[in-house]
Amino acid sequence: MEKYSYKELLEKARSRLPKEALNKERFEIPHLKSIFVGKKTEIVNFVSAVNTIRRKPEHLLKYLTKELASLGEIEGKKAVFNGNFGNSLINAKFNKYVEGFVLCKECKKPDTTVMKESGHDFLKCEACGARRPIQKLK
Ligand SMILES: [Zn+2]
Repeated sequence: MEKYSYKELLEKARSRLPKEALNKERFEIPHLKSIFVGKKTEIVNFVSAVNTIRRKPEHLLKYLTKELASLGEIEGKKAVFNGNFGNSLINAKFNKYVEGFVLCKECKKPDTTVMKESGHDFLKCEACGARRPIQKLK
């Protein structure tokens, strides 16, 4: 019987896996669910989506109110915006936010934190250490 070390066995097993199986940690941007109520658009899973991307609800709210040119507020777990906005528009804006303020440009992972340094905001990646400046919301 052949003898393998634990490491060799692991490598043997790994080499048999298809490449996709190793990369399945790929981050999926959560989908925002929205409904129209009266003259308002409610994003019903706003807070849970923000928790998934680990950003502050107020920051995303500010971004969306600017992008939608609307007024909005957080009510419990929802965000409510004045006006009717389509679900695909809301998710397009949200995807843009995640790309701009959450995902690492180098490794595409969402494990990033926002840091302030001499008045500028930076995104620092905990996975690969990359750093890049991010836009400041006014
Ligand atoms: Zn990275």
